[in-house]
Amino acid sequence: MINHLITQKNWQTQLSEAITSIDELLGILELDELRASTYRPEHFVLRVPYAFVAKMRAGDPNDPLLKQVLPDRQERSKVAGYVSDPLAEQTHNPTKGMLHKYQSRVLITLTGACAVHCRYCFRQHFDYSANLPTEVAKQDIAAYISAHSEINEVILSGGDPLSVTNRRLFAWLDTLEGIEQLTTIRLHTRLPVVIPARLDEALLTRLARSRCHIVMVIHCNHANEIDTLTAEYLQRARSAGITMLNQAVLLKGINDSLTSQVALSQTLFAAGVLPYYLHVLDKVAGAAHFDSDEQKAVALYWALLAKLPGYLVPKLVRELPDRPFKVPINIYNTH
Ligand SMILES: *Cc1c(COP(=O)(O)O)cnc(C)c1O
Ligand code: SF4
Repeated sequence: MINHLITQKNWQTQLSEAITSIDELLGILELDELRASTYRPEHFVLRVPYAFVAKMRAGDPNDPLLKQVLPDRQERSKVAGYVSDPLAEQTHNPTKGMLHKYQSRVLITLTGACAVHCRYCFRQHFDYSANLPTEVAKQDIAAYISAHSEINEVILSGGDPLSVTNRRLFAWLDTLEGIEQLTTIRLHTRLPVVIPARLDEALLTRLARSRCHIVMVIHCNHANEIDTLTAEYLQRARSAGITMLNQAVLLKGINDSLTSQVALSQTLFAAGVLPYYLHVLDKVAGAAHFDSDEQKAVALYWALLAKLPGYLVPKLVRELPDRPFKVPINIYNTH
């Protein structure tokens, strides 16, 4: 029934109507008995669009999609080693709204807003308001790129860069395409998974006519996040000539089994998306209960190598604050 309702609405309506009430969410999922025990945080509150809820199983408190968004009491536990800025991003910030940490590419935090609040997010404590690019900063960013000839790729990130309007996004594309040395524009986004209709025709048409390679890295952690409707939209993006990749986070009790990872890779591939990264969790405060033990991650990885063709095995990586690339997990440690 939800499905029927949401497919009628455009993405902006879906974005503005995202569920923020825990009681409403539990009601839709027939889990009213959890009302009394659910944690209700004051910051980084529940936020989840209907289109994502429509992919959850009613009556299942352990649904892998629900567990990614429903606040949990364990978030309050202070665990040694889990901090508020695990990647020390503040230190690679030459121009407002931009990170230059990796040699050939810069990352622009286009917005602080996300359509969904993922409980394990490493940016959940980040103060965006002070660090978003304005019109002036946009020109500074363009000037910075021009002055650094080693940069050939720009990554639009956030927050979620597809949560801004087409108008604002296209203005950025126009600016970036005007910088001759850039060959590639990349979007890191979870919107196609939580509100598939975001991949609307105007967006795909604009991306298709870019003079740059367009790469879209979606963020999908579980095969259930890709239903028929989502797969259709993802296929449309691929048909528009966009290189479609996925990054996932390894999450305890959600996608840390062989069955779950195999299903994820195969489902992505069927939707025209190749697995790119599988991140072990960034050690952010409040997310320790999602962290899977590294030995287990390594064992899972060997099992994936045995099970899948090489192109369906994502790179298993960890992000470290002082490294200018995502660091491969040493899979020879335990084998
Ligand atoms: C992840 C990331 C990138 C992109 O890394 P790739 O390995 O090219 O996918 C670039 N800059 C920053 C700051 C990042 O965190
Ligand atoms: S969509 Fe990405 S940036 Fe936004 S809350 Fe989820 S993990 Fe964090």
